[in-house]
Amino acid sequence: MSSLLFPKSTGLIGEINSQSSVVALMQAALDALPAHIAILDGTGKIIGVNARWIDYAKENALDRFEFGVGDNYLDICQPASIQDDPDAIAVINGLRAVLNGSSHEPFNHEYLCPHPADPGRDRWFHLSVMPFSLNCKQCALVSHEDITARHVGERSQKLLKAAMANTRSAIMITNRAGDIEYVNAGFSEITGYARNEVLGKNPRILKSGKISAETYAAIWQSISSGHLWKGQVCNRRKDGQLYWEEMTINPIKDPDGVITHFVAVKEDITEERLKESLYAGVISASADGFIALDEQLRITEWSPQAETILGLGAKDVIGKDFIASVIAPELLADALLQYRHFQSGQPSRLIGRPHRTQMRHHDGSILPVELWLTAIDLQGDLRFSGFIRDLSDVVRGEHVLLEAQKMEGVGQMAGGLAHDFNNLLQIIGGSLQIAAMKAPPESIKHINNAIDAAKRGSAITKSLTTFARRGEMRPVEADINELLIDIEPLIQQTVGKQIVVTLTATAIQSKVQIDVSGFNNAIINLAANARDAMPEGGKLLIYAYSQHIAHKVAGAPIDLPEGDYVVVGVDDTGEGMSEAVIAKAFEPFFTTKELGKGTGLGLAMVYGICRQSGGSARISSQLGVGTSIQLILPTALPKNEG
Ligand code: ADP
Ligand code: MG
Repeated sequence: MSSLLFPKSTGLIGEINSQSSVVALMQAALDALPAHIAILDGTGKIIGVNARWIDYAKENALDRFEFGVGDNYLDICQPASIQDDPDAIAVINGLRAVLNGSSHEPFNHEYLCPHPADPGRDRWFHLSVMPFSLNCKQCALVSHEDITARHVGERSQKLLKAAMANTRSAIMITNRAGDIEYVNAGFSEITGYARNEVLGKNPRILKSGKISAETYAAIWQSISSGHLWKGQVCNRRKDGQLYWEEMTINPIKDPDGVITHFVAVKEDITEERLKESLYAGVISASADGFIALDEQLRITEWSPQAETILGLGAKDVIGKDFIASVIAPELLADALLQYRHFQSGQPSRLIGRPHRTQMRHHDGSILPVELWLTAIDLQGDLRFSGFIRDLSDVVRGEHVLLEAQKMEGVGQMAGGLAHDFNNLLQIIGGSLQIAAMKAPPESIKHINNAIDAAKRGSAITKSLTTFARRGEMRPVEADINELLIDIEPLIQQTVGKQIVVTLTATAIQSKVQIDVSGFNNAIINLAANARDAMPEGGKLLIYAYSQHIAHKVAGAPIDLPEGDYVVVGVDDTGEGMSEAVIAKAFEPFFTTKELGKGTGLGLAMVYGICRQSGGSARISSQLGVGTSIQLILPTALPKNEG
């Protein structure tokens, strides 16, 4: 062809006056080409262009610049090369090499021609500079071909390949028969198999044996019918180690809709699963209830501990409104208000810090709890997670402490009064005795009555001072079993024949530090109370046993240090006590008995003697069934020899 278009004898094309048929033919051929073409002489001057060149210049308003026959092509590229445009520099250099004859090879260059306003309309061009000589002069044919369409296709393919090679996800492509045709580097990293070890093999080489045949069947069922499958699978690495992956398998169809390949993208999630199970471990080991809520505070997670605390199972509460489902009715309005504060960015008690509130148990009771909700922003998706802690024990403990402090306070006051009062009674008693010596016989009887009354008053003050631990107590080491056996006849005498007394004093470690007469007094007081509670008769059981206590004593007004104790109990089958009476029974002067029958000091004195020995006392009772009052006394430490 070129020999036809450019026979050696042809004159210079730029000198168009030579109107040979060859030139006309050549011009027609050049005009028919989709590339825009210019022919340059040895200096770079444009000496001819084709029709497409002119159209292009017009379309792009390039005719306003010098861009046609007679202009120098090198001058056209010059401004861009001054701005360090690497494409322009490459083109100028390539062109110069062709024109000055230092290169006889065609120069090719692809470059991007950016659209000034719209990157979507950027064009790619293939520039080729073809050397040829006319009349022994070096000339060049410059052709620009728009290759945007091809370029975009090629580039996206390249990008895709690079992405597949570089992604950390594993990619595996199998054909319809299941033979592996492609794996990327991520696949080798996750599975430990090199590419050449798996090509042509079936993916079942990765099977761990931990996934059921049904699961595999379900996967195959889904993808072979043209649907995507996504899920988690446990596989085995080449080195035998198990790992978890999240896999998406996509069936690829040809234009006729027939499946030709399957593309599997796998993500190693072993670590995430491990973390998840660690978190799950923490949550299940915690005594607190774990919960999670969505942005509207609807419950999304509800741990078994939350169920234990509130009596509501996950199935009862998932999807329900958290505040409405669990917060105690009186605190509902406040919780809603606090949530609104949080939403409007104000400080809120509900979220971000632990706070005490009350929740409604499934059985209707109200529980004191600590609630700690934290807001979590999952990429714009707001969630809450937190813990519910049952504070029943803590609140009970606080109540116990308050009660103990109250008893202490009352005791101090009563003890002070009793001491002063006892001094007065001593003076009264002493003076009456002196008066009795000189008194006329008819007055002696009255004076003796007064002396007896003073003695009884003095005995009462003694109980009070015991309670207040101000009395003259002399704790000695004593054996509780023996004390009880010694006092049994006195107990029987106190309660009368209508009541059957049984004594089992069998404490193994029965030595305690105690004021003996105080202890005897306490037991007699308890027996007297039991008698009052069983006017028709009944049974009275008195016992002592050893027990190790790990500090929480149910029903005792005070917590005790961990240690070994002797529990002394006096149980009756009497009328029992109401909750309200139990709550007050140890307080001095509390009595339900009619005026003159009860002083309200018996149990206060019992409690006082127990506290004095470093122990405590407790009541358990049921109306109509009976009462059990127990003294919990620390056992005496064995004495050091020497
Ligand atoms: P008092 O016997 O003088 O009333 P106490 O301190 O001994 O005072 O007892 C306080 C109250 O506790 C009694 O009034 C009674 O209501 C109740 N109580 C004590 N022991 C018993 C018991 N064994 N059975 C029923 N109630 C009892
Ligand atoms: Mg009493």
